[in-house]
Amino acid sequence: MASKIKPQPGIMDIALYVSGESTLAGRKDVLKLSSNENPYGPSDKARAAFARTAQQLHRYPSTDHAALRAAIAEVRGLDADRIICGVGSDEVLQFIAQAYAGKGDEVIYTEHGFSMYPILAKAVGAKPVEVAETDRVVDVDKILAACGPKTRIVFIANPANPTGTMIPEKEIRRLADGLPVQAILVLDGAYAEFVDGYDGGASLVDHSDNIVMTRTFSKIYGLGGLRIGWGYGPNEIIDVLNRVRQPFNLSETQLATAEAAIRDEEFTEKCRTENARWREWLVKQLRELGLEADLSSANFVLARFASPEEAEACDAHLKSEGIIVRRVAGYKLPNCLRITVGDESACRRVIHAIGQFKGVR
Ligand SMILES: *Cc1c(COP(=O)(O)O)cnc(C)c1O
Repeated sequence: MASKIKPQPGIMDIALYVSGESTLAGRKDVLKLSSNENPYGPSDKARAAFARTAQQLHRYPSTDHAALRAAIAEVRGLDADRIICGVGSDEVLQFIAQAYAGKGDEVIYTEHGFSMYPILAKAVGAKPVEVAETDRVVDVDKILAACGPKTRIVFIANPANPTGTMIPEKEIRRLADGLPVQAILVLDGAYAEFVDGYDGGASLVDHSDNIVMTRTFSKIYGLGGLRIGWGYGPNEIIDVLNRVRQPFNLSETQLATAEAAIRDEEFTEKCRTENARWREWLVKQLRELGLEADLSSANFVLARFASPEEAEACDAHLKSEGIIVRRVAGYKLPNCLRITVGDESACRRVIHAIGQFKGVR
């Protein structure tokens, strides 16, 4: 007999999130370039802070995250009162969906947008609305045309994942200004630190009442395993989000490690310059091997093959060489593979293997 116990509408429409693979049966020399992780790991200062917290595990953590928010505010030149911290930026995105969208509402995301956005919309019973991009770039006019009286949230990542493309600040401004009055623009800045001189949209947040920026410690700070992210927005919205946040959502280990990580600006700068250097090299090498690749603003590149079959065959060859990259057919990019920018040896190894596949080496 079918159970009468049913979840809320929308929940069973959620396709489970698929993360990058991390192991290959029978191989010890696996090179994982599928989850945009920092090849250098976190800063030594973050590791030391992590270890120190082992003495305090019996203590409940801070509920207001004051020290971490102060550190973020100081390093980034922001207002600490308008920062909220979460279990990865995913949790901050979840707070926004939970607080601002529900049954009968629409949540907009774009064609190749991060797969968490429709998941979050469905989880709160709202309708995810997908908007086309133009040549793998977010298209502001198409988003504005899709907005209506039911639109509550527009999610875009800038730079975007998995395309690596971004739109200029004045386009974001135009998008925010053109939204219906009841809608929030969520600017997901997971890769913002990889763009020299870009504040992730923080100054736009400072001058508007309908933009929330989210950021993460998972990418440039090399702390994906620890789960810490944050958001920055108008006072009223941050106040709302704090009401749905659990008081002890982050452990002292997460808080202290993240604080040390963001204060180590020298290490962050090193990661940014190394990433930029090897990212440019990867794009150049891919193009020399006859593949197409857009210039990326993030810590990965998107290699475009002639067909889905060729992308799949190359992926299979890379696996046979112990290299895991990300297939992105689920992001409507079936002829592409997303490759995380590793350190020098990782970049050389993946290009060598793609060269073998193309019959060049
Ligand atoms: C990796 C990533 C995040 C970060 O998620 P966390 O929960 O902070 O680990 C957010 N948005 C996009 C687009 C990403 O690629």
